[in-house]
Amino acid sequence: MKKIFTCAVLALLLCANAYSIDKVQKNVAVGIILDVSSFTTGSSKDFIVSDSSKKQLKFTKGIATVACSSKGVRIDTYDLVLPATIKPSNGVIFANSKPYAGYLKLIKSDQKISIINVLTVEDYVKGVLPKEIISTWAIEALKAQAVISRTYALNNLCRHKRQGFNMCATTHCQVYGGLQDEVHATNQAVQETQGEVLTYDGKFAQTLFHANCGGRTDNPKYLWKWEAPYLKGVKCGYCCKAPHIKWEQEIDANLISKKLANNDIGKIKKIKVKGKTSSGAAKELKIIHSKGKTIVNAYKFRLAVDAQKIKSHVFDSIKTNGDKIYFKGKGWGHKVGLCQWGAKGMAEKGKTYKKILEYFYPGTKMETVIYK
Ligand SMILES: [Zn+2]
Ligand SMILES: [Zn+2]
Repeated sequence: MKKIFTCAVLALLLCANAYSIDKVQKNVAVGIILDVSSFTTGSSKDFIVSDSSKKQLKFTKGIATVACSSKGVRIDTYDLVLPATIKPSNGVIFANSKPYAGYLKLIKSDQKISIINVLTVEDYVKGVLPKEIISTWAIEALKAQAVISRTYALNNLCRHKRQGFNMCATTHCQVYGGLQDEVHATNQAVQETQGEVLTYDGKFAQTLFHANCGGRTDNPKYLWKWEAPYLKGVKCGYCCKAPHIKWEQEIDANLISKKLANNDIGKIKKIKVKGKTSSGAAKELKIIHSKGKTIVNAYKFRLAVDAQKIKSHVFDSIKTNGDKIYFKGKGWGHKVGLCQWGAKGMAEKGKTYKKILEYFYPGTKMETVIYK
């Protein structure tokens, strides 16, 4: 399950939604290797390097090293003026031995270089899907994920605008692995949903998702203080066989105090749930400690302490025993939007991806974008 929870969870810095459905940019620029002094590139066929001084170099198949030099940037024995592009003749270009669709763009980042993979949105989603969902799941669940990953990408194209690209390749945006990670089933899901996105009120919907909800999805207002009509939370009931639907974890009390250092917490005596959301998650936690009492947002507590160990902020019990705190809880992830294991369960019961998306994002509309 390591792959499934790499989703881009925090769309807090929402981009100005200036993209209309019928004029969507065809290509996306993904920052794949950032702030390095050198990297290797190459292709199994010829590739062309073009720089800003209109220099054009043709390389025959093989590997070339691009490195920062005293004059700027150098590829083999040639100096380059950035930005520069590296375009393959057969549609596959390598960066540090990993293959990518589209082409590479090199840009300056302070004294170093960053490598951007420019490719079509559809090819990008193909490189994302195997990292964000388990590719052996039922096709309708994969198709639902394809629509939400595409929508998420198009809704967040300006996340790295200041750095000179659209998306990064990590959990901050969506994990993107390039051609190396593509598999037939997820590619099929992308092809069968080509251009399809979810919208609400003429704008891209915020298609947040998580691994499993533990029974009910939740409203983002408890986590991030914003709301959307299609993210009020729904009863799920399809994810009861998911791993971590119930979980237990022991955490050292001193570690919790250390992780919450900004709150000046002393030796922890007890932690209590303070208030519950409509889905049964904890709103806040009251920490009783040697310096007094501290109230913390339960979701932020999870992120600050250890989001891998504390799988969710739905706590069935929190018990203290000496220096250890024992947590018992339900579900995995932030509980907002689509429950991936719920989508899997629905797909196995014969629901289509459209039904799955309608269920978890009620009131949204499925539309097909037109690329410019
Ligand atoms: Zn990012
Ligand atoms: Zn669920």
